[in-house]
Amino acid sequence: MRRPLIAGNWKMYKTNAEALDFVQSLKPLVVASTHCDIVIAPPFTSLKTVAARLESSNIQVAGQDVAAEEGPGAFTGEISAIMLRDCGARWVIIGHSERRQFYCETDESVNKKTRVVIKTGLNPILCVGERLEERDSGRAETVVGEQLTGGLRNLTVSEAARIILAYEPVWAIGTGRTATPEIAEQMHIFIRSKIQEIFDDGVAKEMRILYGGSVKPDNIAALMDQPDIDGALVGGASLEAGSFAKIVNFKEDR
Ligand code: PEP
Repeated sequence: MRRPLIAGNWKMYKTNAEALDFVQSLKPLVVASTHCDIVIAPPFTSLKTVAARLESSNIQVAGQDVAAEEGPGAFTGEISAIMLRDCGARWVIIGHSERRQFYCETDESVNKKTRVVIKTGLNPILCVGERLEERDSGRAETVVGEQLTGGLRNLTVSEAARIILAYEPVWAIGTGRTATPEIAEQMHIFIRSKIQEIFDDGVAKEMRILYGGSVKPDNIAALMDQPDIDGALVGGASLEAGSFAKIVNFKEDR
């Protein structure tokens, strides 16, 4: 039985004061939500403050990215996995489509980051997903398959067990255009078959695969009804405590 995981990616939003306000509002709304893991990914600048405020709560904290180098070293502007762990993060988002599109992230760097994060004892949330033109030309599975093969290179079965995948079709991110539950499920089934091919049946059955792309309180339940969708990576709707809590509490709202 795979435990659902709902993660919020704040991107480049919220000052420290705004982040603390959010946490203050969110905590009571999800205090009884024992049915899933809850993760938020604040900007680096508020990670430590937020993690400290969430200590001994049921909400954990993620970095939005990480350096590919283990460090320490001369890598101006970079944040290492050890630094993230030191700030209280337990998870790290890797290979988000905005990193791939705007900051030259490649499957090779995604793979390096994934390996360094696992080595540091953190859990990667590895993002994959096709662009609109790739879906329209019938290449969605090929593209996602290549991202998985490249991003998961040289990992052992026990290392793979630490990874969460997030399928985020680029055309659905921040556009209000969600993949239908059926389209998402079809890709999740493909991803699980690819994981079986790369690792084994046990890893494929256990691996949690999140869906991301315009997830909102009113579409989460239908997505979570799909047998291979194990949670969500939420952007816009994670910025407001009330809407994020509704997504976390998808079971009660049915
Ligand atoms: C994201 O950025 O990972 C995301 C899924 O964004 P949104 O929910 O706003 O589409």
